[in-house]
Amino acid sequence: MNTVTVSPSVERKIQQGICVLQAQDFPHLEMKNTVVQLVNQQGHFLGTAYLSVQNKGIGWLVSKKKEPLDRAFFKRLFVEARQKRQSFEESTVTTAYRLFNQDGDGFGGMTIDRYHDYAVFSWYNDYIYSIKEEIVAAFRVVFPDLLGAYEKIRFKGLDYESVHLYGQEAPEEFTIFENGVAYQVFLNNGLMTGIFLDQHEVRGLLVDGFAAGKSLLNLFSYTAAFSVAAAMGGVAETTSVDLAKRSRELSEAHFQANGLLLESHRFIVMDVFEYFKYAKRKGLSYDVIVLDPPSFARNKKQTFSVAKDYHKLIAQSLEILNPDGQIIASTNASNVGLEKFKKEIEKGFMGRKHRYLQTYRLPSDFVINKNDESSNYLKVFTIQVEK
Ligand code: SAH
Repeated sequence: MNTVTVSPSVERKIQQGICVLQAQDFPHLEMKNTVVQLVNQQGHFLGTAYLSVQNKGIGWLVSKKKEPLDRAFFKRLFVEARQKRQSFEESTVTTAYRLFNQDGDGFGGMTIDRYHDYAVFSWYNDYIYSIKEEIVAAFRVVFPDLLGAYEKIRFKGLDYESVHLYGQEAPEEFTIFENGVAYQVFLNNGLMTGIFLDQHEVRGLLVDGFAAGKSLLNLFSYTAAFSVAAAMGGVAETTSVDLAKRSRELSEAHFQANGLLLESHRFIVMDVFEYFKYAKRKGLSYDVIVLDPPSFARNKKQTFSVAKDYHKLIAQSLEILNPDGQIIASTNASNVGLEKFKKEIEKGFMGRKHRYLQTYRLPSDFVINKNDESSNYLKVFTIQVEK
């Protein structure tokens, strides 16, 4: 097997428990899509890794031992991962959650989600894709109760991004439950599935009545999952804004899955910054505003990035927020840490009085690598705005 000698700074990262290998730490590396042994400058073995370029890094440390990445290895990881999610498995109100989360579960470059009786695998690089048969075989031994699976391709180079992987095919659309709320999902239509499972605690807060009796504006709403959760928690009315045309139909499907009437719920296909102008012109205002944009977006007129532009969302929201209103500020941008995110938010408040209520990070099924803060990419604050 190939050996790669790492610098003292990489050795330190490995000792700290960081698993992702960064391009800048391996400037002269020519190998790729292969397993290697990492050694320090004295030639001491540090761990087993694989090299394969993906959006995050150029490879992953996957074991501190010299061991083959074979079926038995993955079976062990899956048994452990399943044990960690015992409480989800026993839940009668939640049937969709993450089963395996990258380095948090001991192997970076792949995630597996459960949607009721089906699994969705996401492959983040060529190498993991090349060994997927072993991985899937191990998975099927540990999860014989799942009926079938789909796969999502999250690296460049293949001509498809979603396909059936094994077993039974799932219905084109079906219902999963989370905190007792129904959501309509689809497992084989692009990379998305109709719901972002990592937000289940925040939706849980809304189901528990955070916005009960209030009006809620959900910006970047996608399938309006936050609005549905709020509706189940007794919200008076919701407005969901997303510029994707399909969002309206998908949002309505979630509402209908719960037998909710659509009278007090509006779906608007519009750019969020246009909507701020529209709302101001019409004198519209809201008690709770949810801000959950993509990390980065480009449209015809402008680009938006959480790192540089989030403060504008806060500032604009304050102009259409009712007195004593609340903001739910969320981002999944992995390049923006918790403190940096807070700074962006503070910039938007421009000295206006406010109080942080709750902070949410990734929920427990999205097991993080506790030694690598960047693996805990989700950051959500609920904020009380004062008069
Ligand atoms: N908050 C959602 C997930 C948002 S995903 C949820 O909880 O499910 C990001 C969404 O932002 C996408 O649906 C995309 O269509 C939308 N989007 C991106 N740029 C936008 C813009 N400028 N105005 C409105 N929507 C936008």
